[in-house]
Amino acid sequence: MRLWSRELWQLAGLAALGVGLGSLLGAWALGLAVGLGATLAIHLIRLRALYRWLTRTPRAEPPVAPGLWGELFDRLYRYQKAQHLIQNRLQARLERIQQSSEALRESVVMLDRHGDMQWWNSAATDMLGLVAGHDRGQHITNLLRDPRFVRYFAGCDYAEPLTLISPIDERCILEYQVTRYGDGERLLMARDITRLHRLEQMRRDFVANVSHELRTPLTVLAGYLETYGDLADTLPPRLGRGIGQMQAQASRMQNLVNDLLLLSRLEIDQGGEDHARLAPEALLERIAFDARALSGDRHVIEVEVEIERGEAGRAALLGSEAELQSAVSNLAFNAVRYTPEGSRIVLRWRSDASGGFIEVEDDGEGIDPMHIPRLTERFYRVDKSRSTASGGTGLGLAIVKHVLLRHDAHLEIDSHPGAGALFRCAFAPVRLRP
Ligand code: ADP
Repeated sequence: MRLWSRELWQLAGLAALGVGLGSLLGAWALGLAVGLGATLAIHLIRLRALYRWLTRTPRAEPPVAPGLWGELFDRLYRYQKAQHLIQNRLQARLERIQQSSEALRESVVMLDRHGDMQWWNSAATDMLGLVAGHDRGQHITNLLRDPRFVRYFAGCDYAEPLTLISPIDERCILEYQVTRYGDGERLLMARDITRLHRLEQMRRDFVANVSHELRTPLTVLAGYLETYGDLADTLPPRLGRGIGQMQAQASRMQNLVNDLLLLSRLEIDQGGEDHARLAPEALLERIAFDARALSGDRHVIEVEVEIERGEAGRAALLGSEAELQSAVSNLAFNAVRYTPEGSRIVLRWRSDASGGFIEVEDDGEGIDPMHIPRLTERFYRVDKSRSTASGGTGLGLAIVKHVLLRHDAHLEIDSHPGAGALFRCAFAPVRLRP
């Protein structure tokens, strides 16, 4: 304020001087105009100095001026210095981040909000074949053109990574993961999982081969055991009992081998290209019939089929009949096996704009929610002795999961101990036809 009133006094002083000198010459108005003009000229000169300082040499010392202008120059200079310091610090931090990203073995590509590439590390140059000057600013899908990547990138659901063959070396398998950050920007990371993929492939081949090789000897053993079983009456009782047990175990092993083979086939053949039109009602009726037959000797269970009325209920499902029959049968048979006498099982079909749903609901013993996330793992059992006794292989829900994956669908499980269980196969709208 002090500086400001000084400025005002200076203006008033110059105006008064002008009027005084003008009055002496008999033209006070002209004197006032000269006084005001001189003030204006002083301010214009300072303004010009400010302009030149800001535009030409912003980092030089500010011009020297008395009063309000001097204060203004000083404050601007201090502000500019502080900004410069912050900018330097940010730049150093950015460089450190880029240096650490450089050191990564994974490819890192920074994308702006449109998906254009802004920066990448040298691993990305080697792994994805990005060229420094040429590719900067290009859209990522101009470089990674595989339709599965284009769909993944545009889909905006990056919860799961995407595995694809490298765009520059078809012997390499890459896993892509996109993460969002900042204001709509995205970070693409790619890592080489060729070794892991090969090991996984070896594991699958090994399981498939062993299961396949076990099949013939098991069939022979089961065949002979059946023959001896027919002769059980003529054998000593101890031997007869042993043969009965051997038959039960052989049949369990056959189920296990068949489930392992089915699972290997589902894993190896990832296509899921079978798009037959299926009527969900007929499918569920067939499965309900089998479930009643399974529960028959336990005289238990009521099995019902509920189909939504109207158009939605008549919608068809696109997929492989054998695979879907096997998946939903697994759910229905589990419902029979894990529910006590007198229970009720419902097989339900409904659809809406978000997709189609096959539900298998029972009012049996239910499952503790802590087990639910792991139920679809191979051989995961809530109660091992119970499952083995009920004839399960421990692969049923793993098969369901893989079949659904091949049908643009996923499994949802809702259950609580003592409150029954609901298994829902949720199909994407692409799998529905009116
Ligand atoms: P299993 O051959 O042991 O039945 P699954 O993969 O089919 O293997 O099922 C995994 C586990 O999930 C079972 O061991 C069982 O504990 C539990 N489970 C599956 N379905 C039901 C159900 N309807 N009610 C209660 N528990 C169930």
